[in-house]
Amino acid sequence: MTTPRILPSIDRLRQRPLVRALEAEYGGEAALEALRKAADRVRGELGGADATSIRDREEAAAAIERHAATALAARLEPSLTTVINATGVVVHTNLGRAPLAAAAAARVAALAAGYTNLEYDLAGGGRGARHTHAARLLTQVTGAPAAVVVNNNAAAVLLVLAALANGREAVVSRGELVEIGGGFRIPDILRQSGAELREVGTTNRTRIADYAAAVNDRTALILRVHPSNFRIEGFTARPGLEELVALGRRSGVPVVEDLGSGQLTEVPTGGVDEPSVAASVRAGAAVCCFSGDKLLGGPQAGIIVGEEEPLARVRRHPLMRALRVDKMTYAALEATLAEHARGRARAAVPVVRMLAARADEIDARARALADRLAGHAVFEADVVDGVSTVGGGGAPGSALPTKLVRLAPRTHSASRLEKRLRGLRPPVIARIEQDRVLLDLRTVPTEQDEPLATILLGLV
Ligand SMILES: *Cc1c(COP(=O)(O)O)cnc(C)c1O
Repeated sequence: MTTPRILPSIDRLRQRPLVRALEAEYGGEAALEALRKAADRVRGELGGADATSIRDREEAAAAIERHAATALAARLEPSLTTVINATGVVVHTNLGRAPLAAAAAARVAALAAGYTNLEYDLAGGGRGARHTHAARLLTQVTGAPAAVVVNNNAAAVLLVLAALANGREAVVSRGELVEIGGGFRIPDILRQSGAELREVGTTNRTRIADYAAAVNDRTALILRVHPSNFRIEGFTARPGLEELVALGRRSGVPVVEDLGSGQLTEVPTGGVDEPSVAASVRAGAAVCCFSGDKLLGGPQAGIIVGEEEPLARVRRHPLMRALRVDKMTYAALEATLAEHARGRARAAVPVVRMLAARADEIDARARALADRLAGHAVFEADVVDGVSTVGGGGAPGSALPTKLVRLAPRTHSASRLEKRLRGLRPPVIARIEQDRVLLDLRTVPTEQDEPLATILLGLV
């Protein structure tokens, strides 16, 4: 029978080459603590009722070493990790929204580790302005004369309201006092900005006359919010942007539009037909805000485009300093915008490519995967019709026809299988319908088809 007497002392353990290596890699103190905990664990195993394979001092030392090495590695394990998005939700907020274009990721890698001219004027040899980056490309792709980038679209809306409407009134339709998700509520943002909310109309119908009656000498702006995550149907009315702009011009009040998803041009992306930034600029909105990581397919960012004068006030506002972005955001955004400007977004920007993917293309990949999985011990796989969604507060109600790989577990429940898929490396995120696990390859990059098949085949 084994006894705790075969446990080596900590001093002895510290003479072993692997322990020395652990000390060198993780620091002496962390290694010591891990050794003590590992020794306690092995002591427990030796003294416990369960059978143990540890028979002598060498085996005990090796077990302690192994436990300590695992624990030390786990301490430094990053929590943020790659997952395979097989949900079919393209702009999936919980999964980090837009995967970056290859050119954008490469640009981040190229700039991140070194110094840059982030706030340095290379021509003049002195301090430059951060906000010049991405601005030229943004004005090019949207047609607006000026642009500013902040941390996300919630920040963009907050900053615009703070800079343009603090202490004065912002006129908003009751049909647009929306919550976007993650606690972004238009009335709350207005309050935080110091603007006073002037509600007009009703939930389902607001007419231009309602706006006209509300505009007075305390009105700073008319705010129009795109209902990104819901649709009101039936007996509804909402003035066109042109009508609002015409009213604003008569009364000397700018129209600010929160577009949300950031579809750049009118060309619908796949089956998605969101209002475009270019159309709003052309219709005369003084300022438009949208996200960088929804339909634009770039990094998390809030983009503000519009006329020079209001944007100059936005840049000068003290909150600008708190909401500004770093070099990695500019690097990724400039590279993404360049793909749009070249007309290459459909080929090069993953969000756009995924939205544009046709069901027959997805069908061929789904069949290939189902064939690879034929005869799997854990589940039966076949291909069925389904729908993908845009997600992330973009294009409510748009449903993109797709083909799904359907996994029917042979013994356990679908929820147990779905959980096991989440436990794979990399985790596979799927959805469940009618006690079946569904995989939608629309949101899986083609180059992940093979690794996905391999890890699914490894499931036993
Ligand atoms: C998504 C969205 C926001 C919030 O944008 P974030 O980039 O997530 O901060 C604000 N307004 C609208 C209309 C949206 O769709």
